Amino acid sequence: MHEVVILGAGMSGLAMAVGLKAAGRHDFVIVEQSAGLGGTWWDNRYPGAHVDVPAPLYSFSFAPNPHWSRRFASAAEIQAYMQRVAETHGVLAHCRFGRRLVDARFDAGTGRWRLQTDRGDLFVARHFVCSTGPLSVPRWPSIEGLEGFAGARLHSARWDATVPLAGKRVAVIGTGSTASQLLAPVAREAAQVSLFQRTANWVLPRLDRRYGAPDALLARLPPWAAAVRAFWYHVLEWGRRGFDEGSAARRAMQRAALAHLHRQVREPSLRARLTPAYPLGCKRIIYANDYFPAIAQPHVELVTEAIERATPGGLVTADGRERAFDVLVCATGFDVQHSVTLPITGTGGRTLAEAWAAGPEAHLGLAVAGFPNLWLMLGPNTATGHTSTLLFVEPGVRFVLRAMAERERRGVRWLAVREGVMRRFNDELAGRLAGSVWSACRSWYRAPDGRITAIWPGFTREYVRRVQAQGRAEAFARDYEFG
Ligand code: NAP
Repeated sequence: MHEVVILGAGMSGLAMAVGLKAAGRHDFVIVEQSAGLGGTWWDNRYPGAHVDVPAPLYSFSFAPNPHWSRRFASAAEIQAYMQRVAETHGVLAHCRFGRRLVDARFDAGTGRWRLQTDRGDLFVARHFVCSTGPLSVPRWPSIEGLEGFAGARLHSARWDATVPLAGKRVAVIGTGSTASQLLAPVAREAAQVSLFQRTANWVLPRLDRRYGAPDALLARLPPWAAAVRAFWYHVLEWGRRGFDEGSAARRAMQRAALAHLHRQVREPSLRARLTPAYPLGCKRIIYANDYFPAIAQPHVELVTEAIERATPGGLVTADGRERAFDVLVCATGFDVQHSVTLPITGTGGRTLAEAWAAGPEAHLGLAVAGFPNLWLMLGPNTATGHTSTLLFVEPGVRFVLRAMAERERRGVRWLAVREGVMRRFNDELAGRLAGSVWSACRSWYRAPDGRITAIWPGFTREYVRRVQAQGRAEAFARDYEFG
């Protein structure tokens, strides 16, 4: 029996745990299916994995880190940072690793959640914080015969470092952020690499640099650290303008991306195949300096013919050609809609799968009507294509703490957002997203029916302001029901 159960020990689960501690709420557990802390940073250990947002902004505001070794930190460095934050704030003792949620049910009589794990634990909690994140379940490509491939099959988010690549013939499927990071290191080892591109991506230079001793010294000075963070906040917030049709930022960013391609790829026909046919920002922008040079190497081939099927020996493309491979690397992203299948049951026996039959939706990405005392971290429509996702996590944590305090202040068992409030909010989002840049291509931001269920349409400051306003007593009185 606890006050709070947090599901998922990634960035948002960790932020929630630290927030609870800071608020003097120590009665909570974090249930995590992996064997350690980190969430997507625990899972994504493919070669070259790093963050594509400057690390000073990809850190919690309450835990600046003077130890980043470079501007775009590696996955291992971020995971180590998370471990340090967890240790410093005494979070590790609350973690229950290696447990997968099999059932979560709200009991209206007691106003508590009952959560069961695959290890047979039963947790009963007043509040259930679901911080499983959008990028936690690997998505394998739907390719006929893939299961029958006789060589090694790797997914970037479940990397098996024991599979040798040296001297092997390797297929890399996908050309998103992940593929752009792993291609160069894989190509350094492999004898031959075929990169299967379904859609070309916009690629901007990564303004990376090492942080030396002077940076580390300066980063220890709070005003300097705050200034660096503020600088990147404003630069990236400006980049949001690039998503607007006809904006000067869009023109400048597209020009910079095309110039980058021109500089790095000399051969016109290869360049043409790497030129995107949709507006910048529709998919996540890639920031890479070694991606195009990796493709331009003689032992790397860009394949733009669609993959038709896999055979035991390799892949067959639509033109009927079969290529032989020893290893298939699937950098094919995540099943972002996985939350729809989470075994969560709210009031009246209604499951989240039923509530989200037409795609996931929430109020401000945080609360779902009919699911009292359930709080989502990085829920629907809180992903961002232009800045650090942590800027969306921290206001969410503060809001959840206010909701907890509001329940206590009113002396009620539960609170839940009103259906009509959630409906109006999602109608507003749908109106703003219709015809937006994100509707111009296929991406993980969209549900199978095309609805844009992942991305936040506005600037970060708008989200922060609205979440803050929602945490006021009068907003709860207006928009929530209590029982
Ligand atoms: P993704 O953006 O969803 O890309 C998946 C790739 O696989 C796409 O190129 C897709 O092609 C391709 N694909 C899927 N099925 C295919 C098939 N059957 N045949 C050929 N290609 C196929 O996944 P991701 O690259 O893992 O990135 C997901 C998100 O994770 C990113 O947008 C970013 O937010 C985050 N991420 C962040 C970092 C970082 O900060 N360090 C690093 C990696 C990822 P289509 O484009 O045609 O669909």
